[in-house]
Amino acid sequence: MMESSIPHLLPKDTGWIEVITGCMFSGKTEELIRRLRRAQIAKQKVLIIKPAIDNRFSENNIVSHNTQSLPSVVLENSKAINELARDAHVIGIDEVQFFDADILRICKELAAAGKRVIVAGLDQDYTGKPFEPLPQFLCEAEYITKTLAICMVCGNPADRTQRTTVSKEKVLVGASDFYEARCRKCHYIPGE
Ligand code: ZN
Repeated sequence: MMESSIPHLLPKDTGWIEVITGCMFSGKTEELIRRLRRAQIAKQKVLIIKPAIDNRFSENNIVSHNTQSLPSVVLENSKAINELARDAHVIGIDEVQFFDADILRICKELAAAGKRVIVAGLDQDYTGKPFEPLPQFLCEAEYITKTLAICMVCGNPADRTQRTTVSKEKVLVGASDFYEARCRKCHYIPGE
């Protein structure tokens, strides 16, 4: 990743939106935690949010697969974010694809109010289709980082999430039990 492309300073008279996206096991949460920790070291006020659906590993922390963690606020929906974020300089949102449709508008308002907003989430569902609202965020964001995993079959760079069960639920929360990172060549839609 180009370190120089990542902003480190407080916005001057404006905020912005950063997106960290990619498939599962690509280190999105790890990268989000890294940026938020840098802001904390700089004594910036940081608010960390995750949706209630993502209760893997820890109820009140965002935790990456390599077990780094930060205390976070767990929200059922996006309504409370504006109020919670009032004093924050930097707002980090993990698993943004599990929030409701208002999340993009709220993030735009926060950026317009001078805040640095960093969202992390999946850009594709398990069939390889765009996972809203990530495509909308890619249009709005000033900074985009696409993280790649390593294909668990062939070792190529992987940008897709392979579901290893035949469930047709769009959202099936879990990590290594149900999913693998796969490249374009090795990814397939289960049952097709
Ligand atoms: Zn592969």
